[in-house]
Amino acid sequence: MNKSDREPGRYAPAKRSLGQNFLIDANISRKIVDALDLKPGDNVLEIGPGRGALTRHVVDRKPGRYMVLEMDDALADELLLQYPGIEVVRGDALAYDWDSLAAADGWKVVGNLPYNIASPLIWEIVSRAELARAVFMVQLEAGQRLAAKSGGRDYGALSVFVQSFARVELLFKVPPQVFRPQPKVTSAVLRFFLHPQRPSKDEARRLSSTLRMCFQQRRKQIATILKSKGIEDYVGVLARLDIDARQRPETLEPERFRALGNLLPPDFLA
Ligand code: SAM
Repeated sequence: MNKSDREPGRYAPAKRSLGQNFLIDANISRKIVDALDLKPGDNVLEIGPGRGALTRHVVDRKPGRYMVLEMDDALADELLLQYPGIEVVRGDALAYDWDSLAAADGWKVVGNLPYNIASPLIWEIVSRAELARAVFMVQLEAGQRLAAKSGGRDYGALSVFVQSFARVELLFKVPPQVFRPQPKVTSAVLRFFLHPQRPSKDEARRLSSTLRMCFQQRRKQIATILKSKGIEDYVGVLARLDIDARQRPETLEPERFRALGNLLPPDFLA
């Protein structure tokens, strides 16, 4: 074990399998919680509170309900000892019932996310949960993909899907030195505001299939992709959407993909 993996005091060594890189810089913790713009009484859900780097700052703002999802039982026990008023849900945040968050409760969601699950987790959360806003720390490269605009190298299925549901802001970068143990990569803090007119469940399924189909062949022209999938009326479909047949997937805006997904016959959507 690396010497820096061991923390003095009550905690067990950090578990790499759970992406445990704990933030040790109180100013950065405060900046992350500031980005949530908490008012007394707001409901907060934190993913992976760990040793409580963000928790202390959330508690200081006097939230209404404060729920945390933590997969490490020992850390959950420790957190409950320190903050008995918190509602602790033990288990995998990926398996959480994100549809259960009601819009009326105005949940604000925050987390310094384990790198290995950050992108699929954000995909699930923005497309299923009703949130007032969310602030997440992720690996910088994932953050750049989440916030990427069309036309660039980072723009792909993740950017389009997430941006179909939310406005994404990359707020600031965080260097490895402020974590214990130190990760090998730089991190970034992002903020998400859901759009009022988001895709329905059916549209989300169509969008996800359309993105899989298009970004598997991201260097090809959109007409070639549709034709290769056996979509006979691909010329008519593209004309109705005002999409130039020669465009490549990486140049299409999120709303074009949503419209394309809605027009494609269901048999072509896996
Ligand atoms: N919030 C703390 C901080 O900033 O220091 C800890 C962040 S650490 C990067 C990620 C945390 O998520 C750890 O506490 C880890 O145990 C927890 N975790 C890992 N995988 C998880 C999962 N699938 N569901 C819920 N929590 C998870």
